Amino acid sequence: MDQVQTVVVGAGVIGLAIARKLARAGHEVLILEAETRIAQHTSARNSGVIHAGIYYSKDSWHGRLCARGKEMLYDYCATRRVDVERTGKLIVALNEDHLSRLPGLVKTAHANGVTDLQQISPREAMELEPELACLGAVASPSTGIVDAPGLALSFLGEAEAEGAVLAVNAPLRAVHPISGGFELNVDDPGETKIACSNLINAAGLGAWDVARGIHGLSETHIPDRFLAKGCWFSGTGASPFRQLIYPVPDNESLGIHFTRNLGGGFKFGPNLEWLDTQGFDYFVDPAKLPVFEQAVRRYWPGLPEGSLHPESAGIRPKVRGEGDVASDFVFSGPAQHGLPGLVQLFGIESPGLTSCLAIAQQVATML
Ligand SMILES: Cc1cc2nc3c(=O)[nH]c(=O)nc-3n(C[C@H](O)[C@H](O)[C@H](O)COP(=O)(O)OP(=O)(O)OC[C@H]3O[C@@H](n4cnc5c(N)ncnc54)[C@H](O)[C@@H]3O)c2cc1C
Repeated sequence: MDQVQTVVVGAGVIGLAIARKLARAGHEVLILEAETRIAQHTSARNSGVIHAGIYYSKDSWHGRLCARGKEMLYDYCATRRVDVERTGKLIVALNEDHLSRLPGLVKTAHANGVTDLQQISPREAMELEPELACLGAVASPSTGIVDAPGLALSFLGEAEAEGAVLAVNAPLRAVHPISGGFELNVDDPGETKIACSNLINAAGLGAWDVARGIHGLSETHIPDRFLAKGCWFSGTGASPFRQLIYPVPDNESLGIHFTRNLGGGFKFGPNLEWLDTQGFDYFVDPAKLPVFEQAVRRYWPGLPEGSLHPESAGIRPKVRGEGDVASDFVFSGPAQHGLPGLVQLFGIESPGLTSCLAIAQQVATML
């Protein structure tokens, strides 16, 4: 049986950031990825936004790791030449209720450690973005965008430079605790068995299945899983805005917002669709077009007729369901479940991309 010190399950931005961190700390690392290529799921299906951390309480993992991760990510991208841009973001008031909530939003951000927000008048907002319609706005200068696939590739390159090995087409199916670690059964053509001392479950949407495959791990250490789909529609032609545009958030999602990518493309979304089943697909229903057009026209009245097209979808892995308190990241290590060498991550939805380097740091401290 092959033997390796540390196995990271999942080659999304989180697993790759962790593999890089541990490889640089001297671990012998093997990354197991079920797909044929890295970053095919949530890491390729997000808004690509580096969040400022406006809404996340300082007491939550979201709050702590987003604030730290944002700075780490900007630094990393600057030194590694991963494409990134501090675009800034405008949170726009589209009705009187939104307008009355803007000062509170600045206050909340301040309490959460984001001190650079500024409320601006509709005239100032429209001077910045002539296509925009709004009653007022809050400007967030530290929000930006990042090339997520490029980031994943950069993490992999740095991990490999330290000796880490990536195995694709290698879904982890079952785990048996053995003396000093774990025996892993990989569902590849060779039905490979691997022994390791440390096992990091960073399988994203698949983290729950990986956890259930660990013999002897009590169900009490596996949180419930809830799935919420988000779809985008893309626009054609020149980007209407330079900054990212977000309506003041209602309830559980940040609303159908405008984001652009570093190649000049732009899209609107994601919406929020709670999924009933535990299975999922990435189909974007073209019939949703009128809902998107209506949402976008509230802040971009000049949206040309028929210019939006179904683009892509992502699935948010959550540990809380509809109407419940906000979901947060869950880290489950030896202190929680009692199995030395095992760290599991659940519910790594937004702001996971922003937080990836800080998450990797957190996981390293838990081993
Ligand atoms: C709609 C949406 C919008 C978002 N927007 C933003 C944003 O703007 N900013 C931000 O900061 N965050 C955003 N996020 C969150 C961010 O995209 C995620 O937090 C991040 O990509 C999660 O990465 P991951 O590596 O955990 O998951 P994934 O990228 O899904 O990677 C998990 C990997 O594990 C593999 N895997 C699964 N099961 C197994 C197995 N048994 N064996 C081996 N491999 C396995 C999968 O194939 C996959 O490659 C968004 C998320 C969604 C859904």
